[in-house]
Amino acid sequence: MLKAIQRIARAGLAGVLLLCAGATGSAQDSEKTVVLRAAHLFDATSERLRSDAVVVVRAGRIVAVGGDAAIPEGAEVIDLGDATLLPGFIDVHSHLTLEPDENYYRKTLNELMRNPTEMAFYAAANARRTLEAGFTAVRHVGGREFIDVGLRNAIAADLTPGPRILAAGNAITATGGSCDRPPFPAQRVAPLTPREGVCTGADQCREAVRDQIKWGADAIKVCASGGVLSYDPVDVPQLTREELEAVIGEAHKWGRKVAAHSHGDAASRLAVEAGIDSIEHGSFLSEDTLKLMRAKGVYLVPTFMALDWVESHADGYPPNIAEKAHVAAAAHADMFRAALRIGVPIALGTDATVRPDGHGRNAMEFALMVEAGMRPGAALLAGTSNAARLIGLEAEMGTLTPGKWADIVAVPGNPLTDIRATERPLFVMQRGRVVRRDGISLLR
Ligand SMILES: [Zn+2]
Repeated sequence: MLKAIQRIARAGLAGVLLLCAGATGSAQDSEKTVVLRAAHLFDATSERLRSDAVVVVRAGRIVAVGGDAAIPEGAEVIDLGDATLLPGFIDVHSHLTLEPDENYYRKTLNELMRNPTEMAFYAAANARRTLEAGFTAVRHVGGREFIDVGLRNAIAADLTPGPRILAAGNAITATGGSCDRPPFPAQRVAPLTPREGVCTGADQCREAVRDQIKWGADAIKVCASGGVLSYDPVDVPQLTREELEAVIGEAHKWGRKVAAHSHGDAASRLAVEAGIDSIEHGSFLSEDTLKLMRAKGVYLVPTFMALDWVESHADGYPPNIAEKAHVAAAAHADMFRAALRIGVPIALGTDATVRPDGHGRNAMEFALMVEAGMRPGAALLAGTSNAARLIGLEAEMGTLTPGKWADIVAVPGNPLTDIRATERPLFVMQRGRVVRRDGISLLR
């Protein structure tokens, strides 16, 4: 009982709401057993493809997997033919509340001009597209006005379709840091406060973490180094060791994992030593830092989709950003190969919002990781079981095994020989509910 209470406390409001939504939302399906069949099955417990591709689903959960699964009489059988069944995909680096735009200047103006209510409608549309693409869960690593918390609750209450969201609220950042606002004149745009994630000194950064948790964060995002799409040098450390230790220590005390935006090696090293759970982007990580990450089980979240776009469309950005994009992208490819060689745990994260067509095309990240040297099976694990483990939801999702939520995707043919099949899902099921079939979305 105590364990259950601790789990709910850790899961926060989202956990409570999900328990409620689970009780009502899946009631319509509770009596019905659905059997999924296909040519292949990738259960994400290994890189192997199985041929006994049968998954039995009841009451929103997987009850049996494999050729010898008992099929109850009266079960609905869905035969997906020459396809592969996989666990629902998970994107651990998402910003659904940010609206992509190929024009950097228009995007900046829109973000300033839209009020939170209007932004929430865009976020809901992005969430729907993400779910239709087979992403049944995302970790939302930073956005303004707690729109991610509101969207998470609305999805959990079945008001609007979308992936299960783990929300981080505002990212924690230094003044002028990569997650602060651009340096708009203070007379025109009010500087951000600790409640909005901008902090100085250990006490204020601890307060900033508590503020995010108070208003509903399930995870914490911290910006350890400079960024590409910001006005600071990309590789410098921004928060001090004391500030990072305060952020990470406080978050962990509350049962929240911490993701660090970090391109630079010195900043990443500080974050890893301070107990960070994942390094996001990681462009300039040295072999020494990668080895330390492997030793401490710290995940790398490479976000190829974002870097790939900014680098290939650098002309559309202010000159300082374009220059940083070229330097970071060049270092990032080498860093990723070193991470693979060293054996750093890797989880799939897209930063999809950086691309104008990004939300709903998250599965591109699988192919980008494979093109950079990752085995297709390892890339699939990064977007399923590894991602679930990083965000602490491995008991509920990430593998096709009995007891897990019935978050299931089917892609055509064999994704180990054609990784881009992940970008053409035929079928998507979220907690037992079919949201896409025959390649067509059933969401209205
Ligand atoms: Zn990001």
